[in-house]
Amino acid sequence: MHPFQYQRATSTAQAVAAVAPEPGATFIAGGTSHLDLMKEDVHRPSRLVDISLLPLKQITALAGGLRLGAGVSNTAAAAHPEIQRRYPVVSEALLTGASTQIRNAATLGGNPLQRTRCPYFRDPAQPCNKRAPGSGCAALGGINRGHALFGASDACVAIHPSDLAVALAALDAVVQTTGPRGPRAIPFPELHRLPGATPQVDTTLAHGELITAIDLPAFAGRSHYLKVRDRASYAFALVSCAVALEMDGEHVRRARLALGGVAHKPWRLPAAEALLVGEKPSEKLFRAAADAAFADARPLEHNAYKIPLGRNLLVQALLETSGLQALAGPAGTAFAASVGGLAGTFPAPY
Ligand SMILES: Cc1cc2nc3c(=O)[nH]c(=O)nc-3n(C[C@H](O)[C@H](O)[C@H](O)COP(=O)(O)OP(=O)(O)OC[C@H]3O[C@@H](n4cnc5c(N)ncnc54)[C@H](O)[C@@H]3O)c2cc1C
Repeated sequence: MHPFQYQRATSTAQAVAAVAPEPGATFIAGGTSHLDLMKEDVHRPSRLVDISLLPLKQITALAGGLRLGAGVSNTAAAAHPEIQRRYPVVSEALLTGASTQIRNAATLGGNPLQRTRCPYFRDPAQPCNKRAPGSGCAALGGINRGHALFGASDACVAIHPSDLAVALAALDAVVQTTGPRGPRAIPFPELHRLPGATPQVDTTLAHGELITAIDLPAFAGRSHYLKVRDRASYAFALVSCAVALEMDGEHVRRARLALGGVAHKPWRLPAAEALLVGEKPSEKLFRAAADAAFADARPLEHNAYKIPLGRNLLVQALLETSGLQALAGPAGTAFAASVGGLAGTFPAPY
């Protein structure tokens, strides 16, 4: 690790003022992601501004929805009765992530801002345009079984790893921030960006912009999260899926779908969503939606298996959300063996 300054902020204004003018300064919340990157020599901050004592740990009612403070721990959010009752997709997504100990320290603000788990990004000996712009992308010609199907570029094929982010994208959550230019609200699907020619930039946040809260809009439907991974716990998604369905009697009034593990950002599925609206749930309908969802997938050498995996996962999640089928496993977890057609050829892990 390299030397750095450490500072504990006592107000949001002080935190922003400490980070914004210094290009190498950064916030640290639970530290579960950021400290790893420092130990791996991927990040070399000049200053860490600790935001863990800021008063951002409340969950409050908000115009029919909920406002989740950025400093709420993943554990506290997952266990919150109103989140479990009204937004199970959020609770399920959080509980599929990491371990209990990590979730106790991890925060809602830090989780969507964690960086990719691409092994080439985390190995300073490898070329990586995200870590060292202009150095190349080792994953393109390397082992890319965990990489993107959608929205990748010649510069970067990495995926975004947060489970929570997929659920928030499907709920059209809104990120509240304060920064050098004052407060603003960012629709969650606009928080993360595609890599293009500048994969080193993960989000649309300005340097020194602090997430203060995440707003969950009013939602009166059913929601669900499923994730497939190499191990049943303590592993990131190969593919995951968040579903939010609102019904009008027997017909779908509104459908919001997002995939994880397939792109540089949570991947919304507008074509599949449109197919569902006005229709009565059925497995045939859900299979048509899943086909539409993956019609534009562009697999790399080792990750084509994610297409049938993702299609079947989406169908399963829709069947379970609509009540056409009971939960196949513990909430939030799809097991390859228990989900019809999911098991396939899995290239060896890197
Ligand atoms: C072994 C392991 C397994 C894991 N498995 C999963 C998994 O399966 N699914 C999953 O989703 N996650 C997983 N994680 C990631 C974990 O959930 C994240 O590390 C954690 O949520 C990050 O939150 P934090 O508060 O610790 O962030 P930090 O590490 O403190 O910060 C992360 C980033 O966010 C920035 N930041 C933090 N808070 C704010 C804020 N309020 N405003 C602006 N910037 C901010 C920091 O500057 C930093 O860049 C895993 C982590 C580990 C170590």
